[in-house]
Amino acid sequence: MEYDYNSLLEKAYTEMPEKVLKKERFELPRAKRYKEGSKTVIKNFVDVADAINRDPQHLLKYLLRSLGTAGVLDGKRAILQGVFDEDEVNREIENYVETYVMCRECKRPDTKLVKEGRILFLKCEACGAQQSVRSF
Ligand SMILES: [Zn+2]
Repeated sequence: MEYDYNSLLEKAYTEMPEKVLKKERFELPRAKRYKEGSKTVIKNFVDVADAINRDPQHLLKYLLRSLGTAGVLDGKRAILQGVFDEDEVNREIENYVETYVMCRECKRPDTKLVKEGRILFLKCEACGAQQSVRSF
């Protein structure tokens, strides 16, 4: 039997579950911000939250607490009171991802947050690990 390499390759891709493809492509997008008067506008905030598969409100709440400020979502943007530089904002988002997205066992981002009673768990869909994380 003779195989056509390209059609085999195509077959392999189409048979690959979507989740796997998504996982291999995981890359944390950098939050882009600009200053608007005394405020900081993160223009791709919801895109960042989507990329890590988290509720933008949850990510925003974490960010506001970490930076000790107030802010709101506005469409795809987040508007924070006060001026924060881009590295500062991204460092906090990385901390969030480290705690609330990445599985500590297999280092994959295929996780979800599940609240059971008053405890928040990070459940990994890749390896099945489960760990409690600090609720806020
Ligand atoms: Zn895992």
